[in-house]
Amino acid sequence: MVTDTSTDLEALLQHVRPAVRRQHPYLVGTIPDVRVKLNQNESPYDVPPELKQAFFETFMQVPANRYPTEQSYQLRDALAEHLNHDPDGILIGNGSNELTYTLGYTMIDPGTPVVLPAPMFALYSKVVDLFDGKLISVPPLPNLRFDAGALLQAVREYQPAFTVLTTPNNPTGLAMPLSEIEPIVDAAEGFVVVDEAYVEFTEEVSAQTLLGRYPNVLLMRTFSKAFGLAGMRLGYMVGHPSVIHELMKARLPFMVDRLSESLAVTLLKHPETMQARIASLKAGCQDLYQQLGAMPQVEVVQSQANFVIFRTPLAAADIMKRLAAKGVLVRNMGGYPELQGYLRVNAGTPEENKAFLAALNEAL
Ligand code: PMP
Repeated sequence: MVTDTSTDLEALLQHVRPAVRRQHPYLVGTIPDVRVKLNQNESPYDVPPELKQAFFETFMQVPANRYPTEQSYQLRDALAEHLNHDPDGILIGNGSNELTYTLGYTMIDPGTPVVLPAPMFALYSKVVDLFDGKLISVPPLPNLRFDAGALLQAVREYQPAFTVLTTPNNPTGLAMPLSEIEPIVDAAEGFVVVDEAYVEFTEEVSAQTLLGRYPNVLLMRTFSKAFGLAGMRLGYMVGHPSVIHELMKARLPFMVDRLSESLAVTLLKHPETMQARIASLKAGCQDLYQQLGAMPQVEVVQSQANFVIFRTPLAAADIMKRLAAKGVLVRNMGGYPELQGYLRVNAGTPEENKAFLAALNEAL
């Protein structure tokens, strides 16, 4: 019997895989009563009340006692139409985070090489590590853009199971043109996952245009950002039907619930609401860039997403604390070695953006 002493507990925990024990739980550390929350690249706009009402009516028809189908077929078919893509080439997940794990289950054995440019959304390297894969990290150019030449070289040298390109990238907001993505896809014998979580905010062409010619391309998308459904947990992958078929074998069963599915289907029927919101967030982000750039002590990176990163002569943790004291929450990017001193702020409503800028002015 294991008793509750520290030696016994430590012996018990030895049964946890080393790849898990060396991890940290994913914690954002939200301050609960914050007035202006701009730290997670969410949409500041909830689903409009009339759509919630329409959703509520659909909800009344949802049999909660029945398992959902193994895929969210209604949502998958709606997306297939929206994207003009074969429905068998779409996999819906419980947020794109779940699908990142599915990539691990599907492709990473111990020692499997995976190429990731840095700095990048940290979940990808965590999944590589959890599955004991071999991470090949490619540093950025001095201007923080992904180094397309070095990525091409790494793909040729290591021929990884997959490479991930996030465009626009979180945490920098910088996008990759198709002219940089295609040579990497062309050189890769393995997969190239293009994470387009912020695609609705960029002027660059989506890598969707490569899907017809390259079966090794997988798009990763989410309803959490432009669609404002972060709380409902919905993401999807788009690729060749034979590839999606393999991913389906590895993924967890019944991961998308009937409620989230019906809300996303309702939203897809109202593209006009989303378009207006996207336009307002893009304008808000551009405005943040200009206003931050006009502050004498601030250095800001031009972004193609719904957020920007910036730094000041003060320590990022101090700025964060000063802003939090004024009810404004932003994110410290100091966890990324390439982004020491940087903070990230996402576009909120015009009032929230104004409140953030005023608070930053005072903090400086
Ligand atoms: N990819 C990127 C690049 C992201 O920034 C995020 C959200 N932080 C995600 C994926 C995860 O999105 P989801 O909410 O769909 O799990």
